[in-house]
Amino acid sequence: QYDVLIVGAGHGGAQAAIALRQNNFEGSIALLGDEPEAPYERPPLSKEYFSGERSFERILIRPLAFWAERDIDLLLERRVIAVDPVEHLVTLGDGSTIGYGSLVWATGGAPRTLTCSGHDLKGVHSVRTRADVDRMLAETRTARDIIVIGGGYIGLEAAAVLTKMGKHVTVLEAMNRVLARVAAEPLSRFYEAEHRAQGVDIRLSARVDCINESDGWVSGVRMHDGSILPADMVIVGIGIIPAVEPLIVAGATGGNGIDVDIFCQTSLPDVYAIGDCAMHPNPFADGAPIRLESVQNANDQATVVAKAINGEAVPYQAVPWFWSNQYDLRLQTVGLSLGYDNIVQRGDPATRSFSIIYLKSGRVIALDCVNATKDYVQGKALVVNRRSPDLHQLADLGISLKTLVA
Ligand code: FAD
Repeated sequence: QYDVLIVGAGHGGAQAAIALRQNNFEGSIALLGDEPEAPYERPPLSKEYFSGERSFERILIRPLAFWAERDIDLLLERRVIAVDPVEHLVTLGDGSTIGYGSLVWATGGAPRTLTCSGHDLKGVHSVRTRADVDRMLAETRTARDIIVIGGGYIGLEAAAVLTKMGKHVTVLEAMNRVLARVAAEPLSRFYEAEHRAQGVDIRLSARVDCINESDGWVSGVRMHDGSILPADMVIVGIGIIPAVEPLIVAGATGGNGIDVDIFCQTSLPDVYAIGDCAMHPNPFADGAPIRLESVQNANDQATVVAKAINGEAVPYQAVPWFWSNQYDLRLQTVGLSLGYDNIVQRGDPATRSFSIIYLKSGRVIALDCVNATKDYVQGKALVVNRRSPDLHQLADLGISLKTLVA
């Protein structure tokens, strides 16, 4: 029995435990997760950890000793398979049960897999856990032709690392541009051109038929037009499915994520959900329910839950932000571009330093800044204060965004 049981020892779960202790919560806390490692940062899995620039120890969210020092029980390699909201109990994979006062559901999501034949062959990978990446790294030593399915952030980051390793990389994107779900066309075209210049074979509107095998291993990808692209390794980066089944079965409202209110409370008593698995009303989406997959969202929702459990409820209002590193390009985004009806380009992509500013009904709702940290920092206030600056001034590099906030 724990006063607070946190299920999922990733970004949100770890931060919830940290924030509870920072708020002087004195009750018992368990942080339970199904991976073998203490909580670690996930973004480096497709960036610095994958490239070898950062060791595993350097991506731990806190040093190993931290958890015991803060009297937080780390229960690793355990999976919750059922929740009893009436008895306030969870059941683990081995049949044992743990009672809770408050339950924090911070389970993230499982990588979406292909459904075509060959999707489960050896040499086909997703990128979600340290174990996934270690398996990939072991194979990259001998792999030469690598196919990345999905031109989202994770797929493109992996492609950048692998290209730098000297691999022959092909990216297959089903839409007619990369980053189509998250960015405006000029940004997509910029990244497409950058990857091509680095030698990545980017194929748009690509339709995968199946994965071919040879002796139980992947040997290539067959496309809808019958052509076959040879591959020693395939990386699938096509999104996640929120890991919410036990809570839904227990009666929580939701589907694509667990529905929560502005305090991250679910429809079940004393049960909260945070991070990638939480469908929450976001003020930067005009209060519409959305799921966000970002470290910012997981951490800030964890803080909201820690306060709510401590009896000091404050609503979730944090400004969304995100980043992506590819080659020497640092993309920083702030706000949510959902539903934009206009964009302004600030700076010339040819200089490899520029920003795309998203507007809705004349108001700034988001910025994507490439090697333009000053715009990112100063543009945040435009988003927060929902400013409607003159569009020519927004585009004018001679005018700092700071001056447009007033
Ligand atoms: P997670 O960190 O995924 O933690 C959930 C944990 O719960 C996992 O360990 C999972 O195995 C475990 N779990 C699931 N079900 C159960 C169960 N039933 N019982 C016990 N344990 C369970 N975000 C950014 O902001 N910037 C980036 O650059 C960025 N890059 C990324 C790169 C990669 C390769 C990946 C995979 C993600 C990236 N993200 C990035 C997204 C970011 O990592 C996630 O948004 C964040 O990890 C969400 O935190 P979370 O706590 O919701 O879930």
